[in-house]
Amino acid sequence: MDCLFCKITNGDIPATILYEDDDVIAFEDIMPQAPTHFLVIPKRHISTLNDLTDEDAPAIGKLQITAAKIAKQKGISDAGYRVAMNCNEMGGQTVYHIHMHVLGGRPMTWPPG
Ligand code: 5GP
Repeated sequence: MDCLFCKITNGDIPATILYEDDDVIAFEDIMPQAPTHFLVIPKRHISTLNDLTDEDAPAIGKLQITAAKIAKQKGISDAGYRVAMNCNEMGGQTVYHIHMHVLGGRPMTWPPG
């Protein structure tokens, strides 16, 4: 499958890996939008949030728990951070393998653009 994030998962494209286990992998975003900006993805290819099923609930929960653990390691937990998942074109999704953005290290604005 011609998926950028599957290629990162498989090691075919390099990335700065922050965490990896059998289910999830986390890596630095290549174009950070904040002093801290990393992505957490399921290893299993899921194109969009619309494709999730009830069976994916544990994997999605693990994305958030992994994000929180890494945020703590990076020292952004107490000040706070933003978690975002974009879905399809109007949601701003550009890579069609679901991913959780974690941004921190600067004040976030609301609503997001
Ligand atoms: P989306 O726009 O789909 O919500 O987010 C995709 C994210 O993937 C963007 O923040 C973009 O900077 C990041 N990205 C795109 N290509 C690469 C890449 O080759 N390596 C890494 N590490 N991040 C990427």
